[in-house]
Amino acid sequence: MKGKMTKWTQAVHAGKGTPWPKSRPTVQPIYQTSVFSFNSLEAVDEAFSGDEGAFVYSRYGNPGLQVLEQALAQLEGGEAALVASSGMASITSAVLSLCGAGDHIITTQDLYGGTQVLFSREMSRFGIEVSFLDVTQAYRIEEAIKPNTKVLFVETISNPLMKVVDLAALVAIKRGYGLYLLVDNTFASPLVCRPLEYGVDLVLESLTKYINGHSDVTGGAVVGSKEIIDRIRPLHINMGGVPSPFDCWLVMRGLKTLPLRMKQHCSNALLVAEFLATQPGVTHVHYPGLPGHPHYKLAQRQMSAYGGMLSFVVAGGCYAADKVIRRLKLVEFVPSLAGVATTISHPAKTSHRGMTSFDRAKLGIDDGMIRVSVGIEDPEDICADFEQALRND
Ligand SMILES: *Cc1c(COP(=O)(O)O)cnc(C)c1O
Repeated sequence: MKGKMTKWTQAVHAGKGTPWPKSRPTVQPIYQTSVFSFNSLEAVDEAFSGDEGAFVYSRYGNPGLQVLEQALAQLEGGEAALVASSGMASITSAVLSLCGAGDHIITTQDLYGGTQVLFSREMSRFGIEVSFLDVTQAYRIEEAIKPNTKVLFVETISNPLMKVVDLAALVAIKRGYGLYLLVDNTFASPLVCRPLEYGVDLVLESLTKYINGHSDVTGGAVVGSKEIIDRIRPLHINMGGVPSPFDCWLVMRGLKTLPLRMKQHCSNALLVAEFLATQPGVTHVHYPGLPGHPHYKLAQRQMSAYGGMLSFVVAGGCYAADKVIRRLKLVEFVPSLAGVATTISHPAKTSHRGMTSFDRAKLGIDDGMIRVSVGIEDPEDICADFEQALRND
C-alpha cells in the first residue's frame, strides 16, 4: 500500500492495529466475529488441526461457544459437550450421528412434542425407524429391541404427566443389548439430576429452558464422553445448527444463577402442588414430589429435588381449563417453560394438539389438564392467583 489510506479504505480497515487490552476482563467477552485471520500458513495449519485455542470460522468454533461447552461438561459431569442453536438442533445432531438408514430407535410415547414430530415425521424419511412405547415398563423395551436397534431415547421427567424414568434400570438394558442411551434432561436440569452419573451415554438439554432460564435465547447441548462428542461434532458442523456468540454469552450469564433459581423453582413447585391438591374443582395434581405420584420413591432416589414442573386437572375439560386461563392475572399462558416467571400451558391445545382427544385420554392427558412451570416469585402470590382463578363464582 502506498502512503495514507483513503477514506474508502479507512472505513474498512481503520482501528485494526489497536492493541489488545492489557487487563483481563472478568467475564468472557463476546467474540462477535464469523471468521478469524491468520498471519502464516503454519498458523492456519495449527488451527485446522484442532489446536484448542485456535479458531477458524464460527460455525466450527468460537471462544464463547468453547467456554460454554466446557462449563456445561463440568456441570453435567461429562468429559465434553457440544452446544447447538436449539434443543432440537442438539437432538438432531446427536441422533443422526449415531443412527443411519436401516437403524431403529426406541423412545417414550410421551415424548416432548418437537422430538416426537422429528422422530415420527422426519427420521422415517431417512430410513430410521422409531418405536414409541411406555419406557417406565422395562419389559416393554426388551420386547421391542430388534437386531437393528441402536438408540434408546428417554426423558428424565416426562411432559405433561411428570413420569420419572428409572435410569439405573435403563442403563442395565442398554449395556445388555449394546445400545446408546440418550437422556433428555431438560425438565430436571443438572441441578436436579445428573444422568451421566448413572452411566447413560449422552445427556441432552434444551438450554432455552432452565439453564438459560430467562426466556430470551434458544439453545441446546449434548454432553458425554470426549469420544462420542468428537463423533457428533463433524455432522453438527456440516448440518450448521450452531449458536451465535451472543446467545452463548447470554446462556453463560444465565448459568451462573441456575443453582439459586432451581432451589426456588423446586421449593415453590412443591408448595404450589400441595396447594392445588387441596383446591375444590382440581381432580388431580401430577408432581413427583407428592407421595401419591407413582414415581415418588424413584424421584427421591434419583433426583436431588422434584423439579419446577407440575400439571393439574380441573373437572370440566377444555371449557373449565379455559375459564382458569382467562382468570389468571399474574400467571401467563405461555407454551414454553422454565423461565423465572410462573407460566401455564394447556397440553391438549398446544404440545399434544396433533393427537385426537381419545389418544390423549389413553395416555392420561385430560382436556382439563393445565401444565404449570412454577417460577421463582413469592409462592404465596402464585398460590393466591390460582386460588382466585379456580374460585367457583
Ligand atoms: C423445549 C424442549 C426441547 C426442545 O428445545 P428447543 O430449544 O425448543 O429446540 C426438547 N426437549 C424438551 C424436554 C423440551 O422441553
